[in-house]
Amino acid sequence: MKKLLLISCLFTLLLTCKNTPDTVEKSTATETTVNDFAIVIHGGAGTILKKNMSDEKEAQYKAKLEEAIKVGYDILKQGGSSLDAVEKTINVLEDSPLFNAGKGAVFTNEETIELDASIMDGKSLNAGASAGTKTVKNPINLARKIMEVSPHVMMAGHGAETYAKEQGLELVNQDYFKTENRLNSLKRVKEREANKEKTIAFYDDTIKDSKFGTVGCVALDKSGNLAAGTSTGGMTNKRFGRVGDVPIIGAGTYANNATCAVSGTGWGEFFIRATVAHDISALMEYKGLSLQEAANEVIQKKVPNLGGNGGIIAVDKNGDMVMDFNTAGMYRASMNDKGELYIGIYKE
Ligand code: ASP
Repeated sequence: MKKLLLISCLFTLLLTCKNTPDTVEKSTATETTVNDFAIVIHGGAGTILKKNMSDEKEAQYKAKLEEAIKVGYDILKQGGSSLDAVEKTINVLEDSPLFNAGKGAVFTNEETIELDASIMDGKSLNAGASAGTKTVKNPINLARKIMEVSPHVMMAGHGAETYAKEQGLELVNQDYFKTENRLNSLKRVKEREANKEKTIAFYDDTIKDSKFGTVGCVALDKSGNLAAGTSTGGMTNKRFGRVGDVPIIGAGTYANNATCAVSGTGWGEFFIRATVAHDISALMEYKGLSLQEAANEVIQKKVPNLGGNGGIIAVDKNGDMVMDFNTAGMYRASMNDKGELYIGIYKE
């Protein structure tokens, strides 16, 4: 009897070993802690080329990225939560006219501004998102209120604004968000549309400033909690109440303490269809891939295979950071627990 049991055990073991390489593409990544805490931000991905960028503009972008990430870094260093770091860092980017979020957001077809945002807590898997708001100065703050105070995950349009008012968030009129640069981009897109150069004109990387600048932040805090947040004006010339990937949990934003925190930027329709942020987490959770392998799978294969483009920033539970994109550039920065700062714009 014992002999039979031993043979059956050996047989099972053999089968398991044989199946491993076929069924699980396990990463060789170790579980060692890379950073006790870490933070990564993005300011949008697209055709960002050195030849189109003045030294002055480049310096402005770098300075703002540095200012923003240091806000989050300080919070994390002092033992603050990843959620606070994400929210406060994004506030700096939302308040800057350089980025397509808050002030400086892109224009809709009707020359209005409609903002999307979301935030996710990797510890509780709680999440909050707002879509198409027109008066909330910092949509990421609204997303957090929706997550923490309301029983809902997503609110849209007028209702979301009413809730923001109820929660005492700062409201502004549309003029606050509007910048000349973005208005010129809308004009350029509309001209092309009128010339029938493109059927779907709102996404056009060749038109200066037509899309770049969505902002995002992911962080790991000293307690091992991950958080992700994203905020955007969407795409120039969007219409019919178009909502992109940013407020859709699992598309533009996702965080799970068991795996990673992800924030995306790119052609939102494809990010929704590819469930980009959750896919990266799922590849880690169910297939055992490392963060870099998972990001590569989604950003370098799945999204471009569908015809879309963009990038992500991510941090995993060990503090490993990834900034991956399939476009010419992505405004990005990271800081580790040693305070080492990296800032990048173009492909290296
Ligand atoms: N993903 C955003 C959207 O589609 C745009 C961007 O990231 O640039 O609304």
